[in-house]
Amino acid sequence: MFTLQSILRPHILSLTPYSSARDEYTGKVGVFLDANENPIGSTTDTGDYNRYPDPHQLVIKQKLAPIKEVRPEQIFLGNGSDEPIDLLVRATCVPGKDNMLIMPPTYGMYEVSAAVNDVDIIKVPLTPDFQVDVQAVLAAITERTKLIWLCSPNNPSGNLLQDEAIRTILDAANHSLVIVDEAYIDFADTPSWTTQLDTYPNLVVLQTFSKAWGLAALRLGMCFASEELINVLNKIKPPYNISAPTQRLAFDALSHEAAKNEMVTKILAARQKLAENLRSLPSVQGVHPSDANFLLVKFDQAKQVFDHLIDQQVIVRDRSKVKLCDNCLRISVGTDAENERLLDVLRRMSSSPVPANLPLGSGEEATRPEFVSNV
Ligand code: PMP
Repeated sequence: MFTLQSILRPHILSLTPYSSARDEYTGKVGVFLDANENPIGSTTDTGDYNRYPDPHQLVIKQKLAPIKEVRPEQIFLGNGSDEPIDLLVRATCVPGKDNMLIMPPTYGMYEVSAAVNDVDIIKVPLTPDFQVDVQAVLAAITERTKLIWLCSPNNPSGNLLQDEAIRTILDAANHSLVIVDEAYIDFADTPSWTTQLDTYPNLVVLQTFSKAWGLAALRLGMCFASEELINVLNKIKPPYNISAPTQRLAFDALSHEAAKNEMVTKILAARQKLAENLRSLPSVQGVHPSDANFLLVKFDQAKQVFDHLIDQQVIVRDRSKVKLCDNCLRISVGTDAENERLLDVLRRMSSSPVPANLPLGSGEEATRPEFVSNV
């Protein structure tokens, strides 16, 4: 049976958290001489920021909870979802002793957080169709595996991981936390794993305001888990990890869920059109099916395409050196105009043996790299 105590680092269990001034008095009215703030005001024209924000972001959690169909006590908010990723590693993994399991190709920050914290990584690659190799995962888990990271929809492949695989791991790995990173869930046609929080005490779900909500610059990530685990994350986070402007803007954004859904609908239509157009290009070997707001696209010569796009100021992500992503570029779905610009550059490249940006003349032609298509 899973118990949180068995997976937390021993010193975390006995840690006394920092008690901030605003933890000790939570009322709104009073003469506040407790936090060494500037009582006069702020050096800005755009509002007053001289008071520390609510360290527990209660009003946002109360508004977010019914939207996500969870209890406010099951929510942790972080400085991007990268913050809870790091906190989960620090709360559970003893450096040099414990390990965590990832399934490449996947989001890079899991491995970076492990490296920063001197925590070993076990890698069990996804299958060639980017699904979980369940038997290999179960065989690779050790006594000291504290965290198992699943990214669904997965970055960079874009696909959802099969429910059955996730469920099998949740059932079997009862001395690990199983984290399902759902950064791209709003673009997928499936319920969130948050619906299973009360069934699986070892389940953690990550989501973010950076993608569908269009708030990447605010840096606000969500972590959903048992109340017990959320209490631990609250204990070890920096006291005021979410700034007042971020709290206010996120609170406001939550009144506009319909606008978020409308943008998602537009992005999904654009994704389909972009995938069709890319598939028709001779230089494209294939476009992987996507449940996210990006496409993993296989080219004949990904590096050449990438460099040429950069020259034309179209920036995509080169994933061609990543496991199972040979010759692949990851392309975010842009606006219609941005997608057209991308396609235009690619079409010109396919129809011209010479990259369009290279000047002709002076006898350089013989050494000029040619774009090779597969037709
Ligand atoms: N998880 C995944 C799978 C991501 O792709 C990203 C960002 N690209 C994040 C988490 C982090 O998102 P943020 O810190 O902006 O919430």
